[in-house]
Amino acid sequence: MARVYNFNPGPCTLPLSALEKCQAEFLDFHGTGMSIVEASHRSKDYEAVHNDAQKLLRTLMNIPDDYQIIFLGGGASLQFCMVPMNFIPAGRSADYVITGAWAKKAYKEAALVAKAHIVASSEADHYTYIPKAESYDRDPQAAYLHVTSNNTIYGTEWQSYPDFGTTPVVVDMSSDILSRRVDVSKFSLIYAGAQKNLGPAGVTVVIIKDNFAKQANNGLPTMLSYRTHIDNNSLFNTPPVFAIYLMKLVLEWVDAQGGLKAIESLNRKKAELLYSAIDSSEGYYRGTAKPDSRSWMNATLRLPDEEREQKFIAEAKGQGLVGLKGHRDVGGIRVSMYNAMPLSGIEKLVQFMAEFKRKN
Ligand SMILES: *Cc1c(COP(=O)(O)O)cnc(C)c1O
Repeated sequence: MARVYNFNPGPCTLPLSALEKCQAEFLDFHGTGMSIVEASHRSKDYEAVHNDAQKLLRTLMNIPDDYQIIFLGGGASLQFCMVPMNFIPAGRSADYVITGAWAKKAYKEAALVAKAHIVASSEADHYTYIPKAESYDRDPQAAYLHVTSNNTIYGTEWQSYPDFGTTPVVVDMSSDILSRRVDVSKFSLIYAGAQKNLGPAGVTVVIIKDNFAKQANNGLPTMLSYRTHIDNNSLFNTPPVFAIYLMKLVLEWVDAQGGLKAIESLNRKKAELLYSAIDSSEGYYRGTAKPDSRSWMNATLRLPDEEREQKFIAEAKGQGLVGLKGHRDVGGIRVSMYNAMPLSGIEKLVQFMAEFKRKN
């Protein structure tokens, strides 16, 4: 077996131990004589998986008791419309911070189903930074403020969260959930598609404060109402059982690493190693994000010209470092270093970068 260092932006690398456990128990789950994907979603065996995944996430993220955890389909993209449908009442509007393509998509969906207002945007500067909260043009009556914690395409991330005041804050945490410790109580709703740090595509985690959930609009289609899923413990219809199961195995791996404190310190080390390689390259490698907005999860960089960028990607692949091509909006190189990317992957990449620079 030849596993590569997989720098794909999502779906992406997952912990080997989780994949191995999944493989080992795939044909006969816990002596049931069937796979978990063949079991009823109403069975005790599946229910234990479902509830364990919730419990583990609650413990790892230190999610307070007055927050519900639900598992939905439709990706983070469905949340772009579910959030405004549920939480913008008639005659009001929601505030959006535009820090990248995903944030803009979230805003567009909100504007389709209700009223939405852009409080700040870094689009004119190619999304190279996170606008400072003091500069926001906020609506004091806003139903909520929407932010995107990590901008997967542009390699920027909130380094810390300011005091947003009393307006409920909704955050798309798809690409950095579980990468560091976060004070969940700062947010009224957190959502994240699983396929970066949590597991395979197919499930979206929504963490929602009871007080906020209570304010949701009535009269929505049943499946689009958070209340339906809260009231039915995400078992109103068949949940994405396989994705939830594999997510549970990933959460067990995070726990075994020492939880978010340990994961955070590993992620810090990885990011520092990579960014210091960029910064000490005398301009050969040029980070595209402003240093005070740099992401720990996705680092975006350019080489002196496109020809060398293509050569870099091809030669890296030859050495087992794959998935380094940047998004077409940014070009160049994107190094996605989610939780499951080991430090050795970044060490090997940094070594490759030094050699490549010397030879080219
Ligand atoms: C990947 C990603 C999405 C899209 O998720 P889907 O599950 O494909 O809808 C949304 N927001 C952010 C920040 C992402 O990184």
